[in-house]
Amino acid sequence: TRTSEVEDLPHATKKKMADHLRKLEAMFTITPQRMRMIVEAFKDTLEAGLQKPAQVVPMIPTYVFGWPTATETGEYLAVDLGGTNLRVCLVRLTGGGKFEITQSKYRLTEEQKQEDGQKLFDFCGECLKVFIDVNIENGEITKGKILPLGFTFSYPCSQDRIDHGELIRWTKGFGAPNTEGRDVVTMFRKSLALHGVPAEIVALTCDTTGTLIASHYVNPATKIACIFGTGCNAAYMERVGDIPKIAHLGIDPDAQIAINCEWGAFDSFEHEHLPRTKYDIMIDESSNKPGEQAFEKLISGRYLGEILRLVICQLIDEGTVFLGQNTYKIEIPYSFDTAFLSLMESDPTDELLMIIGIFTHFFALETTLAERQFFRALAKLVGRRAARLSACGIAAIVSKMGYLEEGCSVGADGSLYNKYPGFAERIHEGLQDIFGEKGRNVVTHHAEDGSGIGSAIVAAMTKIRKDAGLY
Ligand code: BGC
Ligand code: MG
Repeated sequence: TRTSEVEDLPHATKKKMADHLRKLEAMFTITPQRMRMIVEAFKDTLEAGLQKPAQVVPMIPTYVFGWPTATETGEYLAVDLGGTNLRVCLVRLTGGGKFEITQSKYRLTEEQKQEDGQKLFDFCGECLKVFIDVNIENGEITKGKILPLGFTFSYPCSQDRIDHGELIRWTKGFGAPNTEGRDVVTMFRKSLALHGVPAEIVALTCDTTGTLIASHYVNPATKIACIFGTGCNAAYMERVGDIPKIAHLGIDPDAQIAINCEWGAFDSFEHEHLPRTKYDIMIDESSNKPGEQAFEKLISGRYLGEILRLVICQLIDEGTVFLGQNTYKIEIPYSFDTAFLSLMESDPTDELLMIIGIFTHFFALETTLAERQFFRALAKLVGRRAARLSACGIAAIVSKMGYLEEGCSVGADGSLYNKYPGFAERIHEGLQDIFGEKGRNVVTHHAEDGSGIGSAIVAAMTKIRKDAGLY
């Protein structure tokens, strides 16, 4: 096999790697006690966000009032501008918690994420126009009909009604100028007009809010929704009376409103609660948003591969690994995809053949078995830390809301949650480290598609409220 072609490592190098691994273990491991401290600080932060406007974790009232009732029906368009893809969907809610969906997906380029905001929305409008035309042609959409549209925009927006939202800040590496501080619905409406798209935006939602609503639609035990994907975030339902910062609006205090936490911002700027390693600090400082999204940068899919890559680069600089090989490919920032970590952790072979494949195919690097075992151990440390920190966030909401005794179902979605081996198990383990045996009362499950189905349900709920004269 390939392995025997590479000389095994000298004893001194092996010892160096073992020492490194011990140090990295200490850096990346979060003890149960530390987790409980994080949860306490997290709870205070969530409360602060409900008390006062413009807090670091903004706890955004979404103007989605209460749970769906499964009587929501109708035909809706859904546009999902996510961290990695743009998705356009046609959703038919047929009542009783049932639905049909047709969709198209477009991958966003790094350039699109940085070009003028209006251009980005114009691209969304153009894709939607093509999608509608195709569906008119095949008889799915009636020509001449203007369809209601739910817009899933998964970035923090401050809202004062359901069809409006000012972008607070871009996250997940987006930097499109002329968008922050502006109403993204107005911008997108302009793009729809430009392309003559027969659609009317009725609701703006975040992916987490959509996930909360869609999950509850199919599983009424759902109380919290989380996304663990390119970015990370959570949403849950709050009593209006428990949100002091909107008391002046005169909404019935007993009404329920979905809160988009935007918890990815936890510990931003101050960095006093989360255990950051030097690698995390490097990522933060070289990002387009230094100081921001401190929690997200330790957890989400956009960053995990980069954390591992930075550790490897340090070992290269020290001459511990890949001596005499050309390492330029792995030295390119963000070249190490988080999907590689998933593959590395799930490699079932003794020789770690999948890891051989990753390094030879993508980075033109030969590895020894000892190196591959080391890299795998490292992936495990990074992946496990992400899941345990995720558990801290969930625990903070559970504990704040008093859900521990009665139990709580958490709808979760996103590439990490769905594809990273053991991510859910590690969250559950983390919850038990925080709460003891009772941690078992909190269970995550794969959520229904929030950005497509959820967004359509929110649009339908909006229509029902409008018809009842409530908006
Ligand atoms: C965004 C959130 C979003 C999350 C998951 C974060 O970067 O700020 O709005 O819910 O990513 O997509
Ligand atoms: Mg998404």
